[in-house]
Amino acid sequence: MARYRGSVCKLCRREGMKLFLKGERCLSPKCAMERRPYPPGMHGRQSQFRRQVSDYGQQLREKQRARRIYGVLERQFRRYFDLAVKMRGQTGENLLSILERRLDNVVYRLGFADSRAQARQLVTHGHFELNGRKTNIPSALVREGDVISVRESSKKNGYFRNLAEVLEHKTVPEWLSLNAAELKGTVLSLPTRDQIDVPVNEQLIVEYYSR
Ligand code: SF4
Repeated sequence: MARYRGSVCKLCRREGMKLFLKGERCLSPKCAMERRPYPPGMHGRQSQFRRQVSDYGQQLREKQRARRIYGVLERQFRRYFDLAVKMRGQTGENLLSILERRLDNVVYRLGFADSRAQARQLVTHGHFELNGRKTNIPSALVREGDVISVRESSKKNGYFRNLAEVLEHKTVPEWLSLNAAELKGTVLSLPTRDQIDVPVNEQLIVEYYSR
C-alpha cells in the first residue's frame, strides 16, 4: 500500500490552507501555517504575491487538495473518479461521498483517531472490525448499516483504554452514530454533500478530469 511519505505540513502550505493532517498539532501555534503561511520552496514567499492562476491551475489545485485531505494517491483517486462517473447523480458529489466512505476516514470521523493518517495506521495495524470481522484495509468502503468497532483485544491497548471517556463529548457527522462506551460506530446512511465539511469545489475536479 503506497502512501505519501514527505512532509505533510508542506502540503498545507502548497494549498494555502490548513488541511488538518496532523491532529492536535494543527490546532497549536506550532502549526506550519501559523508560522510560515506561504508556499514551500526557495521562492515560496515571493510567489504568493504575484500568482495568476489559470483555469487549469485552479482545477489542479482543487483535485490535489481533495487528494491530500483524504491521503489518497493519484492512481487510486482516479479510480474513485471513474467509479463516481458510473454512479447515478452528480459526479463531483459521488466522488466526495466515496472518499468519505473510506474506512480510515470513518475511523477518523468517529473520533477514534486525531487525523486520517493516524486512522489509517490504526486500521492497518488491525485494531478494527467491520461488521464483526477483523479488517486491515484502510481503503475499504463502508455501506449503509455497517458497524465499525474496536477489536476486543485492542481495547486493553494503552491507546484505546481511556478513549471512551474522551469520545463521550464527541459529535459525529449525521450519517454516522457513535456508541462511545462500546467504541463502536454505525453507518446510518451514505454521506450527502451537505454532510461533508471539506473545503473543496468538487465541480472543478470534474472539470479537471474532463479536459
Ligand atoms: Fe497542516 Fe496540521 Fe501541519 Fe498545520 S500542523 S500545516 S494544519 S498538517
